[in-house]
Amino acid sequence: MTATVVAPVTGGPALPQKRNLVTPIPGPLSAAALERKKKYVADGVGTTLPVFVAAAGGGVILDIDGNTLIDLASGIAVVSVGNAAPAVVSRVTEQVASFTHTCFMVTPYDVYVDVCEALAQVTPGDHAKKTALFNSGAEAVENAVKIARSFTGRDAVAVFDHAYHGRTNLTMSMTAKNMPYKNGFGPFAGEVYRAPMSYPFRDGLSGPEAAARAIDVLEKQVGADNLACLAIEPIQGEGGFIVPAPGFLSALAEWCTANGIVFIADEIQSGFCRTGAWFASEAEGVVPDLITTAKGIAGGLPLAGVTGRAEIMDSVHVGGLGGTYGGNPVACAAALGSLEEMRSHDLAARAGELGALMRTRLEGLAQQFPVVADVRGRGAMMAIELCVPGTKTPDAPRAAAINAWCHAHGVVTLTCGTWGNVFRFLPPLAISDDLLNEAFDVVAEAFAATA
Ligand code: PMP
Repeated sequence: MTATVVAPVTGGPALPQKRNLVTPIPGPLSAAALERKKKYVADGVGTTLPVFVAAAGGGVILDIDGNTLIDLASGIAVVSVGNAAPAVVSRVTEQVASFTHTCFMVTPYDVYVDVCEALAQVTPGDHAKKTALFNSGAEAVENAVKIARSFTGRDAVAVFDHAYHGRTNLTMSMTAKNMPYKNGFGPFAGEVYRAPMSYPFRDGLSGPEAAARAIDVLEKQVGADNLACLAIEPIQGEGGFIVPAPGFLSALAEWCTANGIVFIADEIQSGFCRTGAWFASEAEGVVPDLITTAKGIAGGLPLAGVTGRAEIMDSVHVGGLGGTYGGNPVACAAALGSLEEMRSHDLAARAGELGALMRTRLEGLAQQFPVVADVRGRGAMMAIELCVPGTKTPDAPRAAAINAWCHAHGVVTLTCGTWGNVFRFLPPLAISDDLLNEAFDVVAEAFAATA
C-alpha cells in the first residue's frame, strides 16, 4: 500500500519556496515507504536521501510527510529549468494527450526533428550538424563511440582518469571508478585506454603541460592511428567536478583533428546552461566533432542525444542507429519545453549569477574551515574538495558527516569524486537567491557542527 500523502501535491514554481521541516528526516511516512522499498526494490538501487517525494518545483522538494527541502542536486543536474516547469508541463500534457509512441523508426513525427534542429542551433560550431536521439546518457555515449568507429574504421577509445560515462558495459569500461560502478561487473569492453586528466589542484600542471602528458601516454601506449575517438567531460561530473586547466581541452581537440581522431565532448552533466553557457566546451572555444547530451535536455524526462558533424553522423548505414524508445515524443516535447524555459528566462546568464553567489559562499567556507582544500567549478556547477587540513589527503568521512547533517536539516546535497570527498552543488537554475543563501547557511552550520 502506498503511504498517504499529507501535503498538497501540485508542484512547479508555485510551490512555497521555503525550507520547512515538520518531522525528523525521514518522517514516519517516508520511513514506512522505505520499508516497502527494502522489500520490493533491488538493494543495488541505492538512495542518497530517503525522503519520498510528493511534489517539487523552483528550488524545493516537498516530501510525503510535509517537509520542504532545498534542492541543491536537481536530480543530478537534470531539472535545471526547475521541476514541473510550466513550459515542460504544458508541452508534455499536450503531447501525451495526442500520442505517446509510434517509434520514430516506424512512423516518424515532427517533435523529434524539432529537437534535432534545436540541438544543431545550440551546440558549439556553425558547421552542418545532425543528431540521433536516445534514452539515457550512457546510451548516447555508446552510440557516439559506435559512430566514431564507423566513421574512422578504427577501434580504440581514449578516456581519462576520474571519468564517468555510464553504467552499460562499454560505458562502465570507459568510467574510471571501481566502487560502486564496476566492481564485480566485468569482463569489461576491450580497446578502451585511459590517459591522465588535468587536475590543477592535484597535479599543478598548466593545460598544455597536462595535455602533452596525456597525448604522450596515448601515442606511446595506443598509437594515434589506432584511435577512433577521444571522449572527455569538459568539466568532469561524478569524478569530482574537475575543471581542467585552461588550454587542456583545446590542445587535445587540436591533436585529435591533426590525427583523424573523433573528439567527443560528453556534456551530459555540464550541458544546457549549467556552466553559464549552453555548453561547457564553449569556455575554451572548443568545437567538438560529436557532443553527447542528456540530463538537462528534457526537464527530467528520459532523453539523450548525439549531435555532431553531418559527415561523421552520416557514416553509419541506415538502421545502424536507433532503439524502440529513442526520441520518444513525450520526452521530445519536454525537451522543447525545457529549451523554451532556458531561452525565455536566459538560464545561462542565471547560472552565471548563481555561480558567483555560490563561489562567494564557498570561498567564505574555505577561509573559515581549513578542511576545504579547493573551491572549483563554473557557473551553477560548483564544488569543494575536502582534505585533511594542510594536506591533499582526501577527507571522505568529514564529507559524509556534513552531507548527513545537511540532509537532516532539509538541504539536498550531493557528494562525488574518486575519493568521495567532494561536495558538488547543482541547484535548479530556477532557485531564488534567498533560498540558495539559506541552503548555504545550513551548509556552513554543518561544517561547524561536525568540526
Ligand atoms: N556521462 C556523464 C558525464 C554523466 O554525468 C552521466 C550521468 N551521471 C552519464 C554519462 C550517464 O548518463 P545516464 O545516467 O543518463 O546513463
